Parts: sequence; C-alpha cells; structure tokens
Amino acid sequence: SETPASLIMIFGATGDLAKRKLYPSLFHLFRKGKLSEHFAVIGVARRPWSDEVLREHVRDSVLTSIKDAENIEEFVSHFYYKPHDVSDSQSYIQLKALANELDQKYCLEGNRVFYLAMAPEFFGTIAEHLKTDGLTDTNGFHRLVIEKPFGHDLESAIELNKRIRNVFSENDIYRIDHYLGKEMVQNIEVIRFANAIFEPLWNNRFISNIQITSSEMLGVEERGGYYETSGALRDMVQNHMLQMVALLAMEPPIRLTPKEIRSEKVKVLGALRSIEQDEIPQYFVRGQYGPGEINGEKVIGYREEQNVNKESNTDTYVAGKLMIDNFRWAGVPFYIRTGKRMTAKSTKIVIQFKDIPMNLYYKSEKNLDPNLLVIHIQPEEGITLHLNAKDTGQMMETTPVKLNFSNNHAPGLNTPEAYEKLLFDCLRGDATNFTHWDEVALSWSFVDKISHNWESEKADFPNYSAGTMGPTAADELLEKDGFSWWPVT
Ligand code: NAD
Repeated sequence: SETPASLIMIFGATGDLAKRKLYPSLFHLFRKGKLSEHFAVIGVARRPWSDEVLREHVRDSVLTSIKDAENIEEFVSHFYYKPHDVSDSQSYIQLKALANELDQKYCLEGNRVFYLAMAPEFFGTIAEHLKTDGLTDTNGFHRLVIEKPFGHDLESAIELNKRIRNVFSENDIYRIDHYLGKEMVQNIEVIRFANAIFEPLWNNRFISNIQITSSEMLGVEERGGYYETSGALRDMVQNHMLQMVALLAMEPPIRLTPKEIRSEKVKVLGALRSIEQDEIPQYFVRGQYGPGEINGEKVIGYREEQNVNKESNTDTYVAGKLMIDNFRWAGVPFYIRTGKRMTAKSTKIVIQFKDIPMNLYYKSEKNLDPNLLVIHIQPEEGITLHLNAKDTGQMMETTPVKLNFSNNHAPGLNTPEAYEKLLFDCLRGDATNFTHWDEVALSWSFVDKISHNWESEKADFPNYSAGTMGPTAADELLEKDGFSWWPVT
C-alpha cells in the first residue's frame, strides 16, 4: 500500500538529521513506489536558501547513501524551501501561502505532516504558531512529528505536552523513538508471540535474567554542549532502553493495534519497582569516560571534550538493574547498560534461561552453559540461540552450539532504515511505533528519581577508560546476584 497524499513540512531542513536520515528515507519510499506521487516537501530553516539550493542539498544527501538513484530529479522537484524565523508570525503566514499553493498544485487534500527536526526548545513555539497562524486550517489530517528529547524531566515534559496538546490531539502526535523503527526491535514481539518454543518460557519460571546493552564507540563529538545538560540516563535510558524493556516484558496484547500494544507497555512501565533514594547505588551505576584507546588510537577523556565542564558531573555511562514487580517477572532482574566510548558499537539483548535441574553431563569442573537467546539489534541484525549438544566422539560430552539467523544477508534491498519505516507509518496514520504520552510520563518519573540523586552528589569521575565496557561497579552490580554480563562481541 502507498501513503495518502500529503504535504510534509520539515522544520530544521538544513540540519544533520534531515540530511542523514529524512531525505534518504523519503527517497527510499519514493523509489519503492510507497510514497504517493501526490506529495510535496517544504523545507524550513533559518538559512536564506532557495528551492534550488535545497534540491541540490537533498540530491547530495540521497546520493551519498544510495548509489542507484534513478528518478532523483523527479523526486527533488517536489521540494520547496522557505527561510523561517520560528517565533515570527509573518514567517508562518508566508509558509501557509506556500502550503496552500502546493496543496492545489499536487492535490494534497489538505493533509499535512509537520516534522520538527530542530532543537527541542522550539517544539512548543512552533506547534502553537501552526495553529494560531492557520497552518492547520485545512480539511485533511494534521500530524505533528517530534524528535527527542521530549522534555528534560517529568516537569518540563508535562509543560511541553500541554503546549502541543493545545494544538494537536494525542492521536496526531508522533513522538519519535527511532529505536522503535529498528527492524529487530520490532521483531521482539514477533519472536515472543509467534513461537511456541519461547512464549511458554517467557517468565520467571524459566528466565533467570535479561541483559540489554547499547554501547557506542563514539564520544560526544561536537554535541558536548547539549550532552552536558543531558547525560546517558536522559539521552538513552528514559527512552530507548525503557522502551526495549517494555517490549520484552509486556503481556501479549489482545490484538495488534496501537491502543492495545501501548496499554500493555504502559502496564510494564507502571510495574517498574520504584527505587528509594538510599537504595539507588544498589540498582544503578553511573560512569564517565576518561582518556583511553579506541581502535589503537588514543582519545581524550570526556572532561577534555569541547564545551564540556572540566569538572563535569555528567554521566556518559549508565548500568542499572530493573525489577518488574508483577506476576510474570517477580524476581527476574533486567540489567541495562549504555554508554559512550565503549569497546564496541553494539545493541544486543541477551535472554538467559535458568539452568536445567540436573546436569547429567557434568565433567571436570565445567558446568553446562545456560541457554541464551540473543537478539542482535545493531549493527548486525539477527538472533542467536545458544544450546548444548553432544561433542563428536565416543564420550558423552557436551559442546555449546549456536543457531544463527542473520538478517544482514537477506537478498535484495537492505533492511529499511528506522526512519524510513517511521515516516511511512506516520504518513499512513499508524502510531504503533511512536511513544504515547503515558509512556513518556512514566519513564520520566522513573528516571527523575535517579537523576535528582546523581545531580545532588558529586561522582568520582572519570571512572572508566575510553575503549572499555564501563566502570567495575557495573560488573559488581551483576556479580552480587551471581550473574555477569555476557560479552557483546
Ligand atoms: P541541527 O543543529 O543539525 O539542525 C537544526 C536545524 O534547525 C537547522 O536546520 C537549523 O537551521 C534549524 N534552526 C535552528 N534554530 C532555528 C531558528 N531559530 N529558526 C529556524 N530554524 C532554526 O540538529 P539535528 O542534529 O538535525 O537535530 C534536530 C533534532 O533531531 C533535535 O531535536 C535532535 O535532538 C534530534 N535528533 C537528531 C539526531 C541526529 O542524528 N542528528 C538523532 C536523533 C534525534
């Protein structure tokens, strides 16, 4: 199926996200015939560009990521540009005139998607102007797509939400969590609910613990200024990590509708054990990278990065133990960890099953390995199941075997990028893979307790070297429960 006719207005059209993700994703949809030919894009940003300059920019951005770009000229001819000042009504009135003109020209039926790919401090202002200056005065649908971060804490998120809900109803707000657009994150529910060998085991009787690692090798790059106000807990845990926990832990929805899925996810987030201030060190570990080595090259520590305080208290690493106090999960720790300047770039989920009651094949101090189900989210996409089998030979000895399924080698087109899927969903009005306000609110209230505590106490940073898997306290977090992190490489 293809998308309905629509005008797509991108605020922040000259920015990094638009260039790296949005233009190539739209082109993919266009090339696959999934984008209605009744579409037009208005790029909006501060710079005094023309339509031609934007088209050139879009062409370049597409060509750097896609070799075979037939029809690129036709594609870019749908793009228009308007220099814009986000707080000036005159600007919006001009935008409205252009939007109405394109509405006629391309038969867009008054359908509009407003994509805010801009600094979050402008989200509220832009949403309000869209209404007061009449950009939402058409007969079609009006959808608002919002990038992360959605607020800085619960209080600011409530404030932002109030402002945008004055203009858009919850059903028309698409809060992006691009992890939810990833193929293997979407696969979590399929693996769970479409397989008789997993579904019956997916609980505290058979699973001993679940580990989610999302590690980066990069440091903060040029984003030091932003990162100083955020840190790993806000930047990664509040959204991506908690979303993955919710998908792993939720009950089967009664049907696959956004409403049913979301209500199951909300129940999980509501069942997260709330942690008292004095218990935080038992559940959460923070880290900040010092100098070290990445791929044999020396790199500087976080405090030496551009726009970073020399005595910064900001976390570039978080490890945590989450308990979900419900019938299915009581007693099963969900360990999460995420950070910058770690050993590898990798997002993986490891589900560790409980040991079988008795090992018949025990030999020379070596226990049987536990069964593991590993879900590889990125950069590899696939699943690995770790089993025990008989070692070849005459003795009844065991050897670990791995069953591997890799998505990367699928024939034909590569797996669609997260943004391609999310844009497609939004244009078709499917909000399943976007975060609902209730999820945002619950995640912030969980994270706020930890961040308030961390802000009030100075940490002994740096506490891990660049190029390692984080502070030793993160290993101890699991050791005291009798577990350890499974390697991610
Ligand atoms: P960017 O700084 O590269 O681009 C910002 C854009 O906003 C530019 O087009 C700029 O012209 C425009 N802009 C800024 N101030 C303006 C003003 N006063 N009036 C009009 N236009 C103005 O930022 P980005 O990296 O593209 O990020 C945009 C959003 O996407 C942010 O919310 C960010 O958190 C989010 N995001 C980005 C990425 C990424 O990979 N870059 C990933 C996830 C989320």
